[in-house]
Amino acid sequence: MSFEKLKLLFLRLGNEVMENLISELDILKDSGEACETVRVSKSTHSGTGRKLYIESYGCQMNFSDSEIVASILKQDGFDTTSDILQADVIFLNTCSIREKAEQTVRNRLTYINSLKKNNPALLVGVLGCMAERLKSKLLEEEKIVDLVAGPDAYRDLPNLINQVDEGDKAVNTFLSREETYADISPVRLNSNGVTAFISIMRGCDNMCTFCVVPFTRGRERSRDPLSIVQEARDLLSNGFREVTLLGQNVDSYKWSAEENNKAWIEKKSASNIVSFANLLEMVAQVSPKLRIRFSTSHPKDITDDVLRVMARYDNICKSIHLPVQSGNSRILDLMNRGYSREWYLDKAKRIREILGNDCSISSDMITGFCTESDEDHQDTLTLMDAVQFDFAYMFFYSERPGTLAAKKWQDDVSLEVKKARLDQIIEKQREHSLLRNKADVGKVHEVLIEGVSKRSDKFLQGRNTHNKVIVFPKDNFKKGEYVNVLVEECTGGTLVGKAVGPKNF
Ligand code: SAM
Ligand code: SF4
Repeated sequence: MSFEKLKLLFLRLGNEVMENLISELDILKDSGEACETVRVSKSTHSGTGRKLYIESYGCQMNFSDSEIVASILKQDGFDTTSDILQADVIFLNTCSIREKAEQTVRNRLTYINSLKKNNPALLVGVLGCMAERLKSKLLEEEKIVDLVAGPDAYRDLPNLINQVDEGDKAVNTFLSREETYADISPVRLNSNGVTAFISIMRGCDNMCTFCVVPFTRGRERSRDPLSIVQEARDLLSNGFREVTLLGQNVDSYKWSAEENNKAWIEKKSASNIVSFANLLEMVAQVSPKLRIRFSTSHPKDITDDVLRVMARYDNICKSIHLPVQSGNSRILDLMNRGYSREWYLDKAKRIREILGNDCSISSDMITGFCTESDEDHQDTLTLMDAVQFDFAYMFFYSERPGTLAAKKWQDDVSLEVKKARLDQIIEKQREHSLLRNKADVGKVHEVLIEGVSKRSDKFLQGRNTHNKVIVFPKDNFKKGEYVNVLVEECTGGTLVGKAVGPKNF
């Protein structure tokens, strides 16, 4: 098929591509069914060990944690498998962020439990965010799992597995104030060999009233910066060309040699503190050939220092994920986000002042939070018009037991209204994504090639600095190379173009 025909195919596929993108982004479909992202461990065969199958749900932090789990159990003699039917041990690394995420895991557990009929020795465990909330229900009431481990208990997994082997149920949901797994070199499970994630901190101290994370993942801790830089160096020497620094609120990264727990650093006024801006610079200096991204930024914490470091280094991608959640100051206050509509708009302006119009800004948004009126919702739509996000993850509010909002207020916006509002913001975001992508047409973009396009093996795909997928004919280019691509066409989800030459360093 000619390039022109393939290009037309891509453009015709526009809506479908957008749909795929949407499902990958875990937003709500028209049916009201949330599509939760799931990832499965790859296969490794040392031929010696029991086989571990891990299915991971939810956010990137969870996928990253599964790599830590695989690494800990590899040291204990385990292989990983991508075939659930081959597994001796099945772990679901779970997410509690919305009710639908929990429901998906519970349905999956029913199926997995049915496998035990043919294989009574099969060990089934629940890891991650659902562990603390549902441990007694899963272990004692429903008896559908053998093992439960919270996000800070993964070093204990070999011991917990031994307990189950000896005929007991095993549980550890202790939330640590220090654990960062800094010394564990993760086994890359779903890797394309080019891009990787590095966890730089754990937990969250923010207490947004809608959010369960502070309860499921515990207090905020920052990881030793030297171990982060070393992990980036190791990835580079293993052929990786892009790292994303991960945390719930990366801008509040704070580390001192004396203390790695942010709360303690603040109390004890520790010396020689490494801030997120310092860390970003340290990682950027590893090599100009290693691209750096980071996620997630919090509007109240991102500083001019961070923006200036971004401006100084070509290899730090010009893309900021800055979740706004709502465009209405009263709702933001109820959410305990720590900023107002005006503060957020000023922050977006500041980003563009320091980094230029070319920096992409993306967001998360929630519709139908407690007491949200139609006028409040209109404020979210007008804020979207003012900022014009490049893309967004959009959700309707899902009340989570134990959160401050669940304790204090009634979940008083009907599901129907929440969904109708969600449809409106999705529609607006489609328009803005297309508009922002159209502005990229006719320009040359530096693309890091991640592999063959999902649609045709005659095409390659990669991302530009703004984290947008760009597809172009293969020629002689290869995965892991940087190439300059002239973008000629776009949809709301993808840019299509042709390579105009390799990037020279
Ligand atoms: N730490 C990040 C921040 O503050 O922006 C976000 C982490 S959270 C895992 C990802 C997103 O899930 C949030 O930004 C929010 O939009 C959404 N979310 C969290 N709790 C939710 C809830 N109870 N209902 C609906 N969406 C929720
Ligand atoms: Fe949840 Fe807020 Fe922490 Fe993000 S910053 S993880 S939304 S409490």
